[in-house]
Amino acid sequence: MYDLNKNNLELEIISNESGGFIAANRNIFNNINLSYNSKFILNQAIKGTPMIKIGDNGPKIMLVAGVHGNELAPQISALNLIEELSNLDLNGSVNGTVYIIPFASPRSTMDNSRYFDGIDLNRSSHLPHTITNMILKKAKKLEVSAIGDFHSSAPNSNPGKEGVFCTKVPCSKSYFIADYISKKVGSEKILYPSAGIPFKGALEDEANLIQIPAVTCEVLSAIGYSNEKICKRSYLQMKAFLEYFGIINDSSE
Ligand SMILES: [Zn+2]
Repeated sequence: MYDLNKNNLELEIISNESGGFIAANRNIFNNINLSYNSKFILNQAIKGTPMIKIGDNGPKIMLVAGVHGNELAPQISALNLIEELSNLDLNGSVNGTVYIIPFASPRSTMDNSRYFDGIDLNRSSHLPHTITNMILKKAKKLEVSAIGDFHSSAPNSNPGKEGVFCTKVPCSKSYFIADYISKKVGSEKILYPSAGIPFKGALEDEANLIQIPAVTCEVLSAIGYSNEKICKRSYLQMKAFLEYFGIINDSSE
């Protein structure tokens, strides 16, 4: 763990194979708010997958973005969330321990690619040594209460709309988290009966299968593109996920 020397953030690199220069992808870099923290994280992402820990009490949860490197909005939103939470933390008002992985695969983000070495990381988290498998193992070791995996979906792809994927079996909490986010933000709830069918190897599914409640949140965006409005939708989904666990207060009023 490296201290960010500010606001009690801690950063750990959880895969050393995935490093990349985020700044080389201008489509994302031009939309990143450069701050002390975000610059530090971008520098660390050159080494591998960075995981930032904020807070040190209450429920533990994990948020992941960039499992698909060319889905840009959630990755920008994750950095914005780190910035906001780190400021809140100064006042001691974050009641929880939040692990945020803003760039699951920095190299894929640098390349503006869905894949890492030809592998779809959201279909391979059940396979040993993939980056998403390492994320899953880390979540298990940390005993997080839930994983939120944040993506974007292009028009005419699946789901091709803003939504929250969830399942009821074997982990019904996945459904309840999705229901909360859906009602709060207005994203459509997309329920599949059982984890692992039909999305074998999805981070959400494999987490649910080992009893870590998980959801996949999608915002609507062209691939390899983002703007402030799309980032805001992803950001609201992330905040609703935190609210479900009482880590931050309802911010609607
Ligand atoms: Zn995706």
